[in-house]
Amino acid sequence: MGRDCPIEKVRNIGIMAHIDAGKTTTTERFLYYTGKIYRMGEVDEGTATMDWMIQEQERGITITSAVTTCIWNSFKINIIDTPGHVDFTAEVERSLRVLDGAIAIFCGVAGVQPQSETVWRQANKYKVPRIAFINKLDRTGADFLRAVDTMRTRLCTDPLIMQYPYFEDEQFVGVIDLLKRKLLQFSEDDGHAVSETPVPEHLSETVEKYRDRIVEVVAGEVESLTEAYLEGREIAVEDLKLGIRKLTLSHKIVPVFGGASFRNKGVQPLLDAVIDYLPSPQDIGTVDGINPKNEEKTSRRLADDEDFSGYVFKVVSDPYMGKLLFTRIYSGKIENGSMIYDCNSRKKERIAKILQMHANHREELKIVHSGEIVGLIGPKFCKTGHTICTEGRKIAYEAIAFPEPVISVAIEAKNQKEQQRLEEALQKFCDEDPTFKKYVDAESGQTLISGMGELHLEIIVDRLFREFKIQGNVGKPQVSYKETIVSRQKGEAQIEKELGNKKLFAGVTVELWPSKRGVGFIFHSNLTSGNLSEEFLSAIEEGCRDALMVGNLAGFPVIDTTVKLLGVNYSESDSNEIAFKMAATQAVNNAMLSGDFILLEPIMKLEIITPEEYLGDVINDLNSRRGKIDKLEKSENSSVIDGVAPLSELFGYTTELRSRAQGRATNTMQFGHYDEVPPNFAKNIIARYKGELSYFEATSSGG
Ligand code: GDP
Ligand code: MG
Repeated sequence: MGRDCPIEKVRNIGIMAHIDAGKTTTTERFLYYTGKIYRMGEVDEGTATMDWMIQEQERGITITSAVTTCIWNSFKINIIDTPGHVDFTAEVERSLRVLDGAIAIFCGVAGVQPQSETVWRQANKYKVPRIAFINKLDRTGADFLRAVDTMRTRLCTDPLIMQYPYFEDEQFVGVIDLLKRKLLQFSEDDGHAVSETPVPEHLSETVEKYRDRIVEVVAGEVESLTEAYLEGREIAVEDLKLGIRKLTLSHKIVPVFGGASFRNKGVQPLLDAVIDYLPSPQDIGTVDGINPKNEEKTSRRLADDEDFSGYVFKVVSDPYMGKLLFTRIYSGKIENGSMIYDCNSRKKERIAKILQMHANHREELKIVHSGEIVGLIGPKFCKTGHTICTEGRKIAYEAIAFPEPVISVAIEAKNQKEQQRLEEALQKFCDEDPTFKKYVDAESGQTLISGMGELHLEIIVDRLFREFKIQGNVGKPQVSYKETIVSRQKGEAQIEKELGNKKLFAGVTVELWPSKRGVGFIFHSNLTSGNLSEEFLSAIEEGCRDALMVGNLAGFPVIDTTVKLLGVNYSESDSNEIAFKMAATQAVNNAMLSGDFILLEPIMKLEIITPEEYLGDVINDLNSRRGKIDKLEKSENSSVIDGVAPLSELFGYTTELRSRAQGRATNTMQFGHYDEVPPNFAKNIIARYKGELSYFEATSSGG
């Protein structure tokens, strides 16, 4: 069966921006103008199609990134709406991993804001070509050129102005397309009809000035056009567009557009720009991965005649259909009902459904081809970050490195029956969200859940109480401490048990050593797979992982540790997965017993903006919180401090800062890294958690 849309006409794009810049509003317009929805949803009324969770509509923010597909001029655009809040930065990372291009939206008044810098750097890391949209040009104080300038100064990028905003009586009415030399205006009702008129006389000089700059940049970089330019010949608009496309794809420039999504102005030209300047999967060419058999580099062409491979970048448990896997198909094609191999779980599984995703409804497909993004149903063991492929030719794409959760709260159900439901629900959240974890505290037996920030956990608790209707209590937020090994240690264990008339037998020898900070758990095996089945290998890996959930110092999870499997003992008749898993857990535990460990704590990155007169006070306070200042910048009459401080010293910080500076200082905070707790503090923490401390001081309850 052929494809419904040729690969060169596919665009996989994300929309990234600071919170409130207008991502959701712009996406709603995209869906409306491409005929996907018939009524425009509004963020402020809680009716936006893309924000479909109750929590999102109430708070007017976007939490989970949803994929949606629309058609513009026979091109297929798969859009991923990414959240702007720093607590959900993992969502942004995983969408960037599978996107081919992105639109960066900035507010016409504020320009580039601090969090946009973070997302911008993330996009640099994944080499995502971008175009920019300066939104909200209808607002008082909006300044297109100044906003473009902040792209230069704060993002160190090279913006190329493609449109010039047009105002009448200080009202924003439309944009001038510099290439076409036309003023574009949008019909009053819903902006559907776009009129093109000549550039107003008084602006023709300005328009030529900015147009010349486009021509200059393109002719300077694209050889085939240089000669025509030097000879003073006019370059055709189509050639300029191809040149701009080339420069955008090679990260040399970022074309900039403008508008006001909320006023239905400038949206259709932005859709055109997605088609004209952002890459198709074909432009990406090939993707690299490793062959899981020998860990050697390998790659796949993004083409239909390749062997099948795809990357699962998000998992959502759907109340009706079960686990839904958002998957980027890189190479080849896959039909409904066929078998795939999961390189990470090492399991063969069947695809039961292929779904084209809209924000909140879906359409079943029989087949899906390279370059597309779809939802898959069927595989049970598949998680975020797994690669699925043809069993005969394996490839594993690099998994996304998610940060460790930094904050925990205790949670308990009202009774035993509720406890069971609570555990099931928590498991679902774990499957969906790699930055959310649950574990049982070894000392107190309490269930703890942990995540990336207070808001993150608040929303999960809210969903537990409302969506899953669980009755229970939650405790106060606590810092998630971690442990890590600082010595090299070997350990072994042998399991020999009788269970009814069955015997369990397995022996495992492992070695542990520190891995680089931030890389998490690494598992190596130097046994050739001929000796040991993949199922057994998986069981051993799982057993090791389990053991590292509880550290030696005070029972905190152990991170940044490498475990190498040195040898196994097994019998043809009595060794099975359970025996191997148990032996692995015990072997790691034995190794840890004699190892040296240190305590780690989350360090947050802070940006504080304060009026000059409170600066000294703010700095003193930061010092008393074990904070460090990296950069201090003064602008007009306020100071901007970039620094770091341990999360444990930052509870209630925002409120206190505000009162310290009479409400005139603000701050943003996001997770930076884990670092060693100074020994004198560590001693106290270990004593506290090893002792009688209860995580529980019920502060809120649901049901
Ligand atoms: P997101 O957080 O980036 O998804 O931003 P939203 O789309 O939720 O928009 C944030 C707020 O800005 C909402 O109140 C929108 O109505 C408003 N907004 C979005 N676009 C515009 C615009 O072009 N002009 C004005 N004046 N407001 C806008
Ligand atoms: Mg939004």
